[in-house]
Amino acid sequence: MKSALLYEGKAKKVHSVVGEEGQLILEYKDDATAFNGEKHKIFKGKGRLNNLISSHIFHYLHEKGVASHFIQALSDTEQLVYQTHIIPIEVVVRNIATGSLTKRLGITEGAVFHEPLVELYYKEDALNDPLMNDDHAKYITGISEGELEFIKEQARNINHHLQVMYQKIGVKLVDFKLEFGRLHDGSIVLSDEISPDTCRLWEEETGRKMDKDVFRNDIEDLVEIYDTIWKRMEANVHV
Ligand code: UDP
Repeated sequence: MKSALLYEGKAKKVHSVVGEEGQLILEYKDDATAFNGEKHKIFKGKGRLNNLISSHIFHYLHEKGVASHFIQALSDTEQLVYQTHIIPIEVVVRNIATGSLTKRLGITEGAVFHEPLVELYYKEDALNDPLMNDDHAKYITGISEGELEFIKEQARNINHHLQVMYQKIGVKLVDFKLEFGRLHDGSIVLSDEISPDTCRLWEEETGRKMDKDVFRNDIEDLVEIYDTIWKRMEANVHV
């Protein structure tokens, strides 16, 4: 089914599909990178866990009516998706203040946003993914005002569903990053991945970090933590 390797990124490989022009196979790799690729390590089994978690989340969001590029998981490390043209905006949603936000704006670490914050970053490694406002995003990417509103509304909606899902497995969704892409017909759908690589997850009871920060800050074994998240999701079939 898999034919040519089209692209290899930091965490995934993208393959074309024999006989299916509008579809791609995403292969999740065991590589972990942080700080714009400056820190790099291979964690055996990470690709499988991120594929399983991301597939589970896309499936769950589909049931909630969120359109995405996801078609189905094909194996432990691969998923079939619709080909999209990624819009170079990283949409970050924040429920709890941490990281750069506390440093940049002086907001207290751990402050809870009852109205989640939605931020836009320009997805451009060479510029270190700078924060941008709506006007910058429209100018740079050519998306319309209405499309940008749609993306932000989708991000808030996804946040709501993910918060409910994570609450059921004893985890707080602190913040996360989404990417959107355009299908062949021009419509915009959720794309890329949603996994502990792209979210901050804090254990409800203990505050333990259960996401890529364990690698960024050398806290614990990443695979053990991701496996805990996956086992809790799997055990919660209705999550
Ligand atoms: N994030 C991501 N990929 C990126 C940038 C951010 O997945 O290229 C996620 C990150 O894991 C976190 C959220 O988006 O869950 C906010 O990340 P950011 O880098 O903005 O962190 P901060 O600025 O808070 O340190």
